[in-house]
Amino acid sequence: MIENNVNIRSCAIIGCGNVGAATAYALMHSRLLSKLILIDVNKKKAFGEAEDISHSLPFNSPMEIIAGDYKDISDCGIIIVTAGVNQTPEQTRLDLLQKNANIFRQIVDNIIEHNKNALILVVTNPVDILTYITLQESGFPTSRVIGSGTVLDTARLKEKVGKHLGVDSRNVHSFVIGEHGDSEVAIWSSANVSGIDLDSYCRERNMEFDRAALDILAAEVMTSAYRIIEAKGATYYGIADSVRRIVSAIVNDEHTILPVSAKLSGEYGVYDVCMGVPCIVGQNGIEQILEIPLDKTEKERFKTSAESLKKAIEQL
Ligand code: NAD
Repeated sequence: MIENNVNIRSCAIIGCGNVGAATAYALMHSRLLSKLILIDVNKKKAFGEAEDISHSLPFNSPMEIIAGDYKDISDCGIIIVTAGVNQTPEQTRLDLLQKNANIFRQIVDNIIEHNKNALILVVTNPVDILTYITLQESGFPTSRVIGSGTVLDTARLKEKVGKHLGVDSRNVHSFVIGEHGDSEVAIWSSANVSGIDLDSYCRERNMEFDRAALDILAAEVMTSAYRIIEAKGATYYGIADSVRRIVSAIVNDEHTILPVSAKLSGEYGVYDVCMGVPCIVGQNGIEQILEIPLDKTEKERFKTSAESLKKAIEQL
């Protein structure tokens, strides 16, 4: 579909490192797109990834995958930014801030020079702050700048809770909200397995409801990037499928609820910061931020998460 001179099935990925390349591969398999343009300061890397991923097309569905430049993005409906410096094991995501903020301002300037109508999907860390910077720098409406937020963290939580409870992780309904990082909040007060609250579910299955064990799982989710980076240098498969999921919600106009990073204007009592919160996502981007019920501790932790992000933005 072509709207505002952009084609929603035409997509660019800026930054073709671990995350950008894995995302391109996931999107090729998704069959959602007709065109994918790969851009990187390292043009050889972008060329190599485009060429390599193209060789899977005969086993999948026809589309165009090319290495390109900003001049090629004018008709893109979605622009995904995965460029930047990666986290090292001893670095927190906020440590990356200053470096990636500078890279980002330059990238956003290049985007708006060639395309003022796309949706920008920010993935680079610290993702919430870079989503905020992208909003400021682009002047785009809040609906059209989306951070990957806590979509990955929520998937990590569902996977762990599903395993713990012996049930398909797709039947686990819970969110991680707040910062994608050290102050994120797992929401247990409304967590359920296909509509059954966790306590009742455990009783029905003759299992012990162990809240402390759930808190350990949430802590493992929060620290999982550190463990994976320590083990293999980077994380990329989980985020690649998280991005594919968001792109699917946009291209198919799904009005799906996903905890993407969105700018808050009073929701949850928080103003002027981007954080992972459940949002309705469709072809127009973020259609609405939803306020899910939180208990007192969850509310307090969410506010603390917002404060820590605000402080980091002020330091810039
Ligand atoms: P990487 O170092 O492998 O790749 C980064 C790529 O960006 C490189 O190819 C580099 O050449 C390119 N690049 C740098 N500056 C650029 C610019 N100005 N224009 C275009 N390209 C540029 O890193 P990675 O492992 O792919 O990680 C990328 C980012 O994704 C990191 O910030 C990482 O922390 C983040 N990440 C986010 C999530 C999430 O949930 N949001 C999950 C995993 C990783």
